[in-house]
Amino acid sequence: AKSQGTSGYQIFNPDMHARAVALLQLETDLRNAVERQEFRLYYQPIISLATGRIVGFEALIRWQHPQYGLQNPSQFIHAAEEAGLINRICQWVLYTACAQLAQWQRQFPAISPLTMSVNISGKQFSQPQLSQQVQQALQDTELSAECLHLEITEGAIMDGAGAAPDLLWQLRNLGVQLWIDDFGTGYSSLGRLYHFPIHGLKVDRSFVAQIENADNVPLVETILTLARQLELEVTAEGVETATQLTRLRALQSEYAQGYFFSPAVDGEAATALLSQNLQW
Ligand code: C2E
Ligand code: CA
Ligand code: CA
Ligand code: CA
Repeated sequence: AKSQGTSGYQIFNPDMHARAVALLQLETDLRNAVERQEFRLYYQPIISLATGRIVGFEALIRWQHPQYGLQNPSQFIHAAEEAGLINRICQWVLYTACAQLAQWQRQFPAISPLTMSVNISGKQFSQPQLSQQVQQALQDTELSAECLHLEITEGAIMDGAGAAPDLLWQLRNLGVQLWIDDFGTGYSSLGRLYHFPIHGLKVDRSFVAQIENADNVPLVETILTLARQLELEVTAEGVETATQLTRLRALQSEYAQGYFFSPAVDGEAATALLSQNLQW
């Protein structure tokens, strides 16, 4: 059931039996992937719009599959959660991302303070050991906490229900920055977010894409105005064109990331980006 050409696991197969078999195979392979160290971190630069320079990276996981090649998180994160593997993967991501950032900070002391953003899924967010894991990663890599940014979706915070405020404060008290990922796609009100120790918003790329059309600029402007009133910083995600960049600068978004600057690249290519000292 697994090797249908190079198309990967047939999870979207309408045949229920075939789908169940594929899912089971995926979970087994994921279990092995942890031991065989098949995960990789890719890094996408985050640019300060005031200076036009790289100020940090977002760590994005990939799975170097022995048969199917490089897999994106959409192809396995959900299955990893279902298989109860997300904690171990999260621990690996945290440690690897922090270790990479610590190395870059030593190698590029002039670019400071270089930051690393790590995604925390809803399932991870409901685990009580998360703040312990974060603390351990910071300690093992001797990284200062404020350089580590954790990205959490509005949905994860709201689903976490009762535990969410405590966990957010525990993380905040470690000194890390908390950012809302995919902002604008959830259902939460800014009024609720206001009570949480949030540092900034990552505006979802669906909004950024819309400002290609000048008529839609006021929508993103409204988000930025609200963010400013709540003293939240803003990163615009998914910037793909010069027009979007120009408009985001005019709106005074603090940061931007997207294919216009660079896709997520492996550690070596990201190091090369830092060496080039690019300016946009
Ligand atoms: P995300 O956090 O919203 O990450 C941004 C996604 O948009 C990435 O896809 C990135 O490659 C893509 N992207 C960046 N710039 C552009 C652009 O200009 N245009 C377009 N169309 N797309 C762009 P990716 O790497 O496939 O990650 C997908 C999602 O998987 C992430 O969404 C995040 O929610 C999750 N994810 C990634 N790495 C991890 C991880 O280590 N742990 C957990 N829990 N989730 C992760
Ligand atoms: Ca993210
Ligand atoms: Ca996002
Ligand atoms: Ca997303």
